[in-house]
Order: sequence, then C-alpha cells, then structure tokens
Amino acid sequence: MSFAAASTPSVSPTSRLALRGDLLDFVAQAEWGELETSALRFQPDHWLLIENGRVQGTQAQAPDAAEGWDLQDFSGRLILPGFIDSHVHCPQLDVIASYGAELLDWLNTYTFPAECRYADPAVAQQGAQRFLDALLAHGTTAAVVFPTVHKVSVEALFAAAEQRGMRLITGKVLMDRNAPPALLDDVQSAERDCLDLISRWHGRGRLAYAVTPRFAPTSTPAQLAMAGALCRADASLFMQTHVAENRDEVRWVAELFPTARSYLDVYERAGLLHPRALLAHGIWLDEADRRALARSGAQLVFCPSSNLFLGSGLFDWPAAHQAGVNISLASDVGGGSSLSMQRNLLDAYKVQALAGRRMTAWSGLYAATRGAAEALGLAQEMGHFGVGTLADVCVWDWAQGPVARARDEVVRGLHERVFAWMCLSDERNLLRSYVSGKIRYSRDEGMKG
Ligand SMILES: [Zn+2]
Repeated sequence: MSFAAASTPSVSPTSRLALRGDLLDFVAQAEWGELETSALRFQPDHWLLIENGRVQGTQAQAPDAAEGWDLQDFSGRLILPGFIDSHVHCPQLDVIASYGAELLDWLNTYTFPAECRYADPAVAQQGAQRFLDALLAHGTTAAVVFPTVHKVSVEALFAAAEQRGMRLITGKVLMDRNAPPALLDDVQSAERDCLDLISRWHGRGRLAYAVTPRFAPTSTPAQLAMAGALCRADASLFMQTHVAENRDEVRWVAELFPTARSYLDVYERAGLLHPRALLAHGIWLDEADRRALARSGAQLVFCPSSNLFLGSGLFDWPAAHQAGVNISLASDVGGGSSLSMQRNLLDAYKVQALAGRRMTAWSGLYAATRGAAEALGLAQEMGHFGVGTLADVCVWDWAQGPVARARDEVVRGLHERVFAWMCLSDERNLLRSYVSGKIRYSRDEGMKG
C-alpha cells in the first residue's frame, strides 16, 4: 500500500467581522420602572467582534486588520441585537391597515379571505419571502409566526427562513370549526400534517415547530386534545395561540366551553400550557389565570399596536410581571399596524400610560430582545451580545429627520436618549441587519441574498 502526500483536511477560512458603534444590550431583566439599572450593558464607541457568525467579544480598541478582521465603522450609530417578534401573521401583510372592525368581524371580513389564498403554493412561497424580507428591513431577525392552515404555507416559511439563516418558529394553523370551509382541517388530517412537518423541519438549523391552534373558538375539544398530546409527546415543541384578546371573544369561549373555569383554562385542560408555550394578548385574564401561566412557565405576548388598532383593551403588564409570567413583545401584524418594533414599543408605552403606568425603554427593549430569547429558552443563541451567541445584529441611526435630530442633541442621560429614540424612530432609521454575521438587509443596497 502506498500513500500519497498527506492530505490536510479542508478547513474553511475563519471569517472575522468587527462592527464599531454604540453597543447596547441587556445582561438581565431591568426592574419595572427602574431608570438606572445594572441590567443594561451600554458600551459607547466599541467594537463588536464576530467570528464565523458568532459574537466573540467587545472591545474599545479596533482589532488588527492584518489578522483578517473586516472592519465596518458605524461610529455615532446605535448597535442593538436584532429584534425578536414573538407573534406575527405572515399572510396578514395583505390586510394590514384594514378599516373598521373588532377581532371577530376582522377575522371574517379581512383575515380569512386573505388566508384562503395561501392554499396556492406559489402565493405561499412569494408571501413567505416578501414577509421575511420585510421583517429584516424592520430590524427583526427572528420571529414566531402564524402561517395558515395549509401545509404549503408552513413549508414556504421554513424554506425561506432557512435561506436567510433566520431563527423561525412556526407551525400549521389548526382550525376544524367556525371558519370558512376552505380553511378547515380535521383532527386526523391535521395530526398527520403536523407529524410530517415536525419530522422534516423541527430542529433543522434554526427552525423549530410550534403546535398552532389558532384560538379556542376555531378548534373542537378533540382537536385541542390532539394538540396537547403532540406537546406531551415531544417537550422540545413550541405551542402558539391567542388568549383573552377581546371581550366578545371571551364570552364566545365561555359558551363553547361551559365547563371551563376561564378562557385560559380551556388550554390548560388540553395540556397546552408549558414552558415553550406562547399566548398572544392575555388582556382579559384574572389572577388565577396569571398564576396558572406562571406555574406552567408559558409566556404572554403583548401586542400593543394590535390591541389599540382593534380596540381590544389595555394589557396589564405589571400584574403579569408581578405574578411571575414571562412577557415578550410582538407586532401581531395584520391586527397590528406596523412591523416596526419601535412603533410597537411606543404603543406599548401608550397602552401602559392609558392605565396610569409607565414603561421604561429598558423594560420595552428587553422584552423585544433578550427577554423574548430567555422566554423561548434560546438565550444561548440570540437576543444579546454574549460571547458565543449568533450575531443577529442591527445598526440604527440615533436620529432621522429634523425633529428627531434636534431632540437627540438636547437629551440628558442615557435613558432619555434611548427613550426618545424608541418613540421617534422606525424602520427608516435602520442601516443594516445581520443574521449570524451575514448582511441580510442594507439600506443602501436593499436585500442581500
Ligand atoms: Zn395574532
């Protein structure tokens, strides 16, 4: 036997990227109402070092370009972890900003007709790509998403997220009653579709499956039981649904499930409350509901622009926080009126203000970044600039336009500056979105493939 020259294993070259700017992230959760907090990590004019798509550290000095660092200088700009939108509907981009309805009318008039179109694979594919590119162009690099009841709509979203390297959690919407026939499944076919999608997509790269009953009124008790059984069989699955958004909806659930103690109790009895469960809205809950949520480790998802737009009600953030419930923040487009997390943060502030409470910029930004990642059990992967996390990073202008610029010039202190940024900025302030260290949106050049 003879040997040729020893072959060296092929090693892909190390990619090194360093971003300079004002780095802001969280190491912990700020207390409600606290303006000065050690939970915040602000590193003005620092370099964020990224190696092979992961954060390697931060430092004040520029790294040595001779060691292969690609130096990108954004000094004078704000660098944040990418936002995580914990509840948003892909097919509803087509009905964002629709006039004059509350939840139940709104579903029948606008949402269900838009969702029917997603039975067509071409519509689902184009819709998924347009939707994820829109998220990236708003500084959102990870999301928990409702597609439609159609299997193809889930496939399209997973495939489009995989192409972009994004963390995406989604799953086929379950609906076997109280919706147009074109949007109905049944218990057996829904279970088959879920199992097939789980086996092919769950845990593949940054993709994960969420068991997705739309809400209690559109699933029979048998279908909710099937959804609970899926969750019990595999504790790594997520679950997403809606709860207690609107008073008419709450009354309807009480009629449909007369033996349940409350709306939330319908889900608890079906085995759908667990640490990987996300429940959107949670406006009309009581103390027993909040205790059940805290006990289970499930998270509530506050959707402020949607709650205002549909006139649903004012979410009681401090009550949920005090009960020990995890809270994240979301756009809920198309009930929500913008994919911009800053606009949703501003609406979150207004919702709390209407109820006589004050949300700091820290509470809001934490819920949209590290808090969401913690609640999803994914804080080792994203939501902050800790060493080893994937570099999902966005670069923002501190101010755009004469009003914001003038305001930014007179701010005193960090909270005042970041709060003004939160209120006055939106997607037009976004310069770059990186996903795992790769540019996926650039204001000057549009989307990156
Ligand atoms: Zn929703």
